[in-house]
Amino acid sequence: MMQNFPLRVGGILDHAARYHPNRPIIGRSIEGPIVNSTWAAVHREAKQVAAALKSLGIKKGDVIGVMAWNTVRHLSVWYGIPGAGAVNHTLNPRLFADQLVYIINHAEDRFIMVDLDLLPIFEAIIDKLPNIEKIIVLTDSAHMPETKLDVICYGDLIEGQPDNEPWVSGDENEPCGICYTSGTTGDPKGVVYTHRSNVLHALAAAAPDMVNMSSNDCVMPVVPLFHANGWSIAYNAPMAGASMVLPGRDMSAPGLYEMLEMGVTFTAAVPTIWLGLLQHLEAGKLSLSTLKRVLIGGASCPRAVVETFQKVYGVQVLHAWGMTEMSPLGTICSFKPEVNALPDDERLTVQETVGHPPYTVDMKIVNDMGEDLPWDGVTQGRLLTKGAAVVQRYLKAKEDAVNKDGWFDTGDVAIIDANGYVRITDRSKDVIKSGGEWISSIEMENCAVAHPDVAEAAAVAVPHPKWDERPVLAIVPVEGTSPNTDEIMSLLEKRFAKWQLPDDIFMVDDLPHTATGKISKLELRQRLKDQGYTLPK
Ligand code: ADP
Repeated sequence: MMQNFPLRVGGILDHAARYHPNRPIIGRSIEGPIVNSTWAAVHREAKQVAAALKSLGIKKGDVIGVMAWNTVRHLSVWYGIPGAGAVNHTLNPRLFADQLVYIINHAEDRFIMVDLDLLPIFEAIIDKLPNIEKIIVLTDSAHMPETKLDVICYGDLIEGQPDNEPWVSGDENEPCGICYTSGTTGDPKGVVYTHRSNVLHALAAAAPDMVNMSSNDCVMPVVPLFHANGWSIAYNAPMAGASMVLPGRDMSAPGLYEMLEMGVTFTAAVPTIWLGLLQHLEAGKLSLSTLKRVLIGGASCPRAVVETFQKVYGVQVLHAWGMTEMSPLGTICSFKPEVNALPDDERLTVQETVGHPPYTVDMKIVNDMGEDLPWDGVTQGRLLTKGAAVVQRYLKAKEDAVNKDGWFDTGDVAIIDANGYVRITDRSKDVIKSGGEWISSIEMENCAVAHPDVAEAAAVAVPHPKWDERPVLAIVPVEGTSPNTDEIMSLLEKRFAKWQLPDDIFMVDDLPHTATGKISKLELRQRLKDQGYTLPK
């Protein structure tokens, strides 16, 4: 018989502090200066956070809302909360006020921990948050802001707290974190991660065919810790004993470049961040001197981004797909031997897919009747998944989020090929259904952004009397250009059948985005409707 080794997240930070104590952890603070730390110091402070929370009356299972950028201090909070037996409810500052109010009340947050610059968000909504007992501002006494709120200073709170008390122990299936989906339709839904699901997910994600993380890496999560479990990076890095760079709140391309050049070997973010960085590199004729791998997910990554990173800057792209409900990793596009054997150009085509899942994630595609579809590289179906870190039931929901066989419907439409590589073609709500056939909006957008004058593109369906729906393409031009629509159409003609081509291509000043930076098709369709848009004859 083997020992019973509880899969609790505190053990991950213990491991880093014990076996990789002096690995540098560097971050830009909200107050301004660069902070230099180590896993040993993050561990000590996390213990102090846990002790402080307990001294304020936090009990096992209590929920604490955290609204903070990626900083060194945030890492100690990330571990201090579950270390006190509590649950870390990550809050996205870009959410609308009424959504924040809804999720904070729905999750029954008792305390809020918030970055200095984000406090005004709570000043505006506190009247609608009857359950909040304490607000802790994540700064030291010298930087405490003027506020009408009754607040506690984080620095004062943890000062003098013991840094060696054991983490609150318990069953590995106890809750550890909560993240709400952005709720593009209806109310946001809470996904509750357990200690066990987070540990298993981090183990699976670190594997060589996934993010391949090691103690030789220096990891910079650009993706905020509040987006989909922080893509697990705050678990992966200490588990591997990697060093870290934390960018703080400056998400500008020059700001990120400065941080990347501090020795970062691995980084992660959504595609729009990288579009901006690549433009900055090109304009300034800059190079990336240490970066080796970049994880790109959350939305489809255009081929041009992959190609530029790899060919111009020598940085390997890992195109990934996932969702809040999956902790979030679903698949990563790394090369199996079958793909490694292909010529460069064909490998790039494979990188338009989101790759294959790690052990712990299973998937399949089905038709509208729920029947399994073949993995032939052409048949599209609804993508279903199950796994060790996939949602079973949303917080406080009356029913499971999975079907009778335990499969969770991702809401995505996908194709799977014979090698098990998954190509996401659409959200099921965004797929364009013309004459009974499906047209991929994602593919159309990726094709359009390959034009040098196109900054962003969105393909949406508009109602049509004969074909049910027809595609139209909205384009945001690169500043100072006016893209030629005939040229864009020619690009599309190389990829799409005639009947799949958009009925209209038009310019817009901007596109609506969700709180996680994705194009909101729902809002765009509504905009067109409100404007009385009609298809050209
Ligand atoms: P939010 O919308 O709040 O960011 P999620 O991160 O959970 O929430 O979004 C998950 C969804 O994002 C997926 O279901 C999928 O539609 C989309 N997505 C994620 N990665 C990719 C990708 N590489 N290609 C296409 N779509 C993606």
